[in-house]
Amino acid sequence: MSLGPWVDKVSRDEIVEIASRLIAIPSPSGEERAVMEWVVAWCQARNLDSKIVAKNPARPNVVITVGDPATGPTLAMNGHLDTVPVSDLADWKTGPFEPTVSADGRKLVGRGASDMKSSTGVMLYLMGLFAEARFKGALQAHIVSDEETSARDGTIHVLDEVAAGNLPRPNYCLIGEKSDLKIRNAERGLVAFEITCLGRASHTAAARATGINAIAKAAKAVLALEQDLDKFHPAVGKPVISVNLISAGVAHNVVPGECTFSVDRRLIPGETVESARAEIEEVLAVVASTDPDFRYEMVTNPQGDAIPANITPDDSPVVRAVRDSARAVTGREPEPFVAWAGATDGRFYRQAGIDTVGYGPGGENAHGANEAVIIDDLVTQARVYAAVITDLLAPTSR
Ligand SMILES: [Zn+2]
Repeated sequence: MSLGPWVDKVSRDEIVEIASRLIAIPSPSGEERAVMEWVVAWCQARNLDSKIVAKNPARPNVVITVGDPATGPTLAMNGHLDTVPVSDLADWKTGPFEPTVSADGRKLVGRGASDMKSSTGVMLYLMGLFAEARFKGALQAHIVSDEETSARDGTIHVLDEVAAGNLPRPNYCLIGEKSDLKIRNAERGLVAFEITCLGRASHTAAARATGINAIAKAAKAVLALEQDLDKFHPAVGKPVISVNLISAGVAHNVVPGECTFSVDRRLIPGETVESARAEIEEVLAVVASTDPDFRYEMVTNPQGDAIPANITPDDSPVVRAVRDSARAVTGREPEPFVAWAGATDGRFYRQAGIDTVGYGPGGENAHGANEAVIIDDLVTQARVYAAVITDLLAPTSR
């Protein structure tokens, strides 16, 4: 593919400048307002159409648009500006809100540098770069709050406004979370199960006579469930099962009659809540076959927060565009991002039927001290996004 004239306009210095400005404004989840006000002012100074979309006034989102959705597809870029708080100040070598380029010039260091103010800065930078372009369609940035917490005031609210017809519906979305410049077109889903092993409470003295110790039963179940799952999906890797909470017992001298534990199960495309439950039942049936006293009850999705595994197919135009652009910009075939990473807001776009690809920079120490992003990767991200925009929206200069 030909990259077009836009890719070579990308400026490393301007990207570092915008990322640094964003890092310098503290915005732990719940306190995003000041940084979003800075974004709005930045847009106004460039005559960019920006709209505040807020469910909670303390946690606004900003939707920036160039072009007219009526004239072609709408491509959205989603980045969040909330961060985790600083909990380990003594371990930082530089101030978390004093963005610093490392001595070798490779990294930009500060809270949110990797997760994900720098990448969101790339999106803002591109809105500025294309501010005067004429598109077939529209380019949008969804700059959101509330990614690190529930997303209800953030991306979920933005997509609710899309569903209500108050915002144009994107055809495609790019997610800029860290992906080491690899392509992330799918994410694992998750579902929790709460399993209660049932025994018979008794006095300790009668433990071997009338008691059935529910903790001992749960121990068998936990060990049977805590296993590597022998499945693999090329876009996301393996599914995961992990027992993460357990509670039982009323006193040191009472054999416990119940023991409850929580299972966190990460799903790959093709797996469902029902199939994961059936697998657990199968494992526990094997335990029961060797122990006539083994009994349990299971609750599926007790918190109501299950997420299906989600995937944008390889033949979607946006997946093809990111792959072609990454290959053309870097000269290498882009790899799929198969890592033990958490979910991104991309899942909400996919659930809304919007084709979504994750492509972001590499970085280190996200959520920790001396968080940093690789500056060369930001430049590559910006060049790849500019090529994707060129491919999907055919920009011309006014
Ligand atoms: Zn993030």
